[in-house]
Amino acid sequence: IELELETFCRQLVAEMQLTAKEEHAIAFVSQGECFTAKADKKLLQQILTNLLSNAIKYSPQGGTVSLELICEANKAVFRVKDKGIGIPTQDRQRLFESFHRASNVGGIPGTGLGLAVVKQAVELHQGAIAVESEVGVGTTFTVTLPMDR
Ligand code: ATP
Ligand code: MG
Repeated sequence: IELELETFCRQLVAEMQLTAKEEHAIAFVSQGECFTAKADKKLLQQILTNLLSNAIKYSPQGGTVSLELICEANKAVFRVKDKGIGIPTQDRQRLFESFHRASNVGGIPGTGLGLAVVKQAVELHQGAIAVESEVGVGTTFTVTLPMDR
């Protein structure tokens, strides 16, 4: 399906902002010349919704979350950033396994399935996912998906 990436991301952020109410501000930034790509809308929606809802859930009220879209020649990079609780180093390796939750989640509810779904969706797209995080500072997930214009 033909998907106008920038419009798609903007709409998704607007929808997420409604569910986040006023507790979090979700920013959208785009870089590069964005394009209409042949991409699977459902998969992309699943990836970004899961990452953004985690960013919101694992950040304090009032925290800023952002989605960055970087369009390059034959790929799109999506970066979801938060200034939340962070992920301890020892939990990072198993993050994408079903039902695995980090040791610092405290009372924040969850089943540990979201990232497993994200990883599968990224792989179906022949893409890659990476995480950078510092406990108490924040987390950034970067998803790179090859895309034809
Ligand atoms: P759900 O199935 O409802 O998504 P979940 O959020 O616990 O539950 P995942 O989305 O798979 O599960 O995330 C797995 C774990 O990774 C989380 O439990 C949490 O420990 C950690 N995590 C994921 N995203 C973040 C984030 N943005 N900041 C801090 N920790 C995170
Ligand atoms: Mg989750």
